[in-house]
Amino acid sequence: MTKRKPLIAGNWKMNNTVSEAVVLAQEISNGYEKDWAELVDVCVCPPSVDLKAVRGVFLFDRTKVAVGAQNVYYEPKGAFTGEISVDMLSEIGCEYCIIGHSERRELFGETNEGVNLKAKALIAGRIKPIVCVGESLAVRDEGAYLDYVRVQVRAAFAGIEASEAAEAVVAYEPIWAIGTGRTATPEQAEEVCAAIRATLAELFGAEVAEGMRVLYGGSMNEGNAELLLAMPDIDGGLIGGASLKAGSFLTIVKAAL
Ligand code: PEP
Repeated sequence: MTKRKPLIAGNWKMNNTVSEAVVLAQEISNGYEKDWAELVDVCVCPPSVDLKAVRGVFLFDRTKVAVGAQNVYYEPKGAFTGEISVDMLSEIGCEYCIIGHSERRELFGETNEGVNLKAKALIAGRIKPIVCVGESLAVRDEGAYLDYVRVQVRAAFAGIEASEAAEAVVAYEPIWAIGTGRTATPEQAEEVCAAIRATLAELFGAEVAEGMRVLYGGSMNEGNAELLLAMPDIDGGLIGGASLKAGSFLTIVKAAL
C-alpha cells in the first residue's frame, strides 16, 4: 500500500491582519523543526491579503511551511469584482487552496458545481485543491451521511482525469464538528474518510485513490489529534481554531510525525 505523507493545514479563516499574521507565521516558523519536512507536509491558509507576507516569513527563514488560500474564482481574469484568480495565487507562491468549505457553502452560496469549476481551474494552474465535504447534523441524524458525502465528492471531481486528481486533497469536515468543540470520534471520522477513498477509487482507480490524501477537520486539537491521525484513512487534518495559536498548531503537526 502507498505510504501517504500526512498534511496538516491550518485554516485561519477571517482572522489576523497582516501584522498579526506575520507574528503568527513567525512563531510557527520559530517552532518548526527542519527535519519534520521529510515526514509531514504543513500548510497555513491565511486570509488572502495576508498571503504574501506570510509566505515571505517562511521563505526568509527557509521553513518548509507552505501557504494556501481559502478561496479562489475559476475564471482567469476580468470583471469579477472582489474575486481572486488562480494566477494571482500562483504568483505569490500558493501551493494549496481550500474550496467548498461549509462556511462558504452555507454563507456564500458555494455549490457543488462551483466547487468543481474551482477544482478544475486550480489543477490547471498547478495549485492543489483542498476540497471540503461534510454533512450537517440533520443529514447525519437522518442516517444518509455517507451518500451525501459521496455525492459531494463525485460532483467536485466531475470531468477530472485520474492523472490530474492525484495531487488533490479531500477534507472531511462534518459541519456539526466545525468550531463546536464536538469532534467526530476517530471511528466516525474513519468511516467517512474510508468511504471518500472508496469513491475516489471508483472515479480514478484504486492506485490513484491510495495515493490521495483525505484529511479530517472539525475541532481537531492538541488533545484529540493523535487518535484521529492514527486512523488508516485519515492522512492529516484541516485545523481551524487550533491553528490560530502556534503552540497548538505545532503540537498537532508533531502528532502527525
Ligand atoms: C474548519 O473550519 O476548517 C475547521 C476545521 O474549524 P475548527 O477546527 O475550528 O472546527
